[in-house]
Amino acid sequence: MSTNKSIGWGLIGASTIARQHMIGAIRAQAGHQVVAVASSSQARADAFATENAIDGAYGSVAALLADPAVDVVYISTTNDLHHDQVLAAAAAGKHVLCEKPLALQAGDAIEMLHACRKAGVVLATNHHLRNAATHRKIQELIKGGAIGKPLFARVFHAVYLPPHLQGWRLDRPQAGGGVILDITVHDVDTLRFTLGAEPVEAIGMTQSASLAKAGLEDGVMAVLRFDNGVLAQLHDAFTVKHAETGIEYHGETGSIIGRDVMTQQAVGEIILRNADGEQLIPVEHENLYARGVAAFCAAMLGKGQPAASAEDGVRSLTAALAVVHACRTGQAQAIAPISM
Ligand code: NDP
Repeated sequence: MSTNKSIGWGLIGASTIARQHMIGAIRAQAGHQVVAVASSSQARADAFATENAIDGAYGSVAALLADPAVDVVYISTTNDLHHDQVLAAAAAGKHVLCEKPLALQAGDAIEMLHACRKAGVVLATNHHLRNAATHRKIQELIKGGAIGKPLFARVFHAVYLPPHLQGWRLDRPQAGGGVILDITVHDVDTLRFTLGAEPVEAIGMTQSASLAKAGLEDGVMAVLRFDNGVLAQLHDAFTVKHAETGIEYHGETGSIIGRDVMTQQAVGEIILRNADGEQLIPVEHENLYARGVAAFCAAMLGKGQPAASAEDGVRSLTAALAVVHACRTGQAQAIAPISM
């Protein structure tokens, strides 16, 4: 891709995440423009384009992919559609930044990865938490031995799904709804990133307390065992109004406490606790989505890797699906190594 022309982004999906975070994150990159949006409804595409000052509005993905002004696509449709849309984008020679979960099945996600590799386009997964200054600092601390050998992690990611998002996540299993593919997949990705380890086993139990319908779950507690021995406890929900999010790591010589860090916002604090006492670790917050898009843009130019690669998307999805399976069967689920 040449560096001397502006790079045009096509949005596949007239979604909330595109409107609230990603259009701004793309526009924050010098030389990058949002040139078109595609929706399954022409009227919704037109309204979204007007609302967000986007020139092109298409009622189909095929029409957007045929637009020569589109160099790269950002896919943020419901989870069931990501697979076919990534394959279509790869066939059209477009780079792809795809929302998590990459697909509903690991095999589909691997097929997407292979299709993009074969087409010579970058495929990345929008796991935004890897871009948080807090999680990056935690990764650095753990790698630097600040807590000694890590033994346990605990993720607190029980939130209340805001009313405007109380749609397909709660009542459309076929769209990939449910808390595990929505939130647990982010927890897994964040733990893989900070620990530099892969999950090898999952157990869990779900809850369908009040919001979820059609057999979907709106809460889960799960445990993952990682290949470095760490046990991680995850608590995710759509139904909890007054809990704080957070993450903790407990090692042989110290603990890291992350408060208010499982979020889309550039906020939160990190505390290191050890034999010397408690220390607030300074972090320089920056917009998570803009940082993720910047890494993706560099990768398109052959400079480095995206924050979360397609491989990361496959691995984090595979572990989340293992949690789904473990919860359904009541049995521990082994997570086999994946070669890609
Ligand atoms: P939305 O519910 O806002 O949008 C999903 C789809 O719903 C859109 O593509 C749109 O279809 C359709 N839609 C939107 N409004 C309407 C309407 N009024 N009537 C009928 N259909 C409508 O989803 P989110 O933005 O919350 O999530 C989209 C994707 O992004 C998911 O894969 C999710 O997992 C991911 N996500 C990632 C986050 C992150 O931080 N990485 C955070 C939030 C979501 P169409 O495009 O055909 O118009």
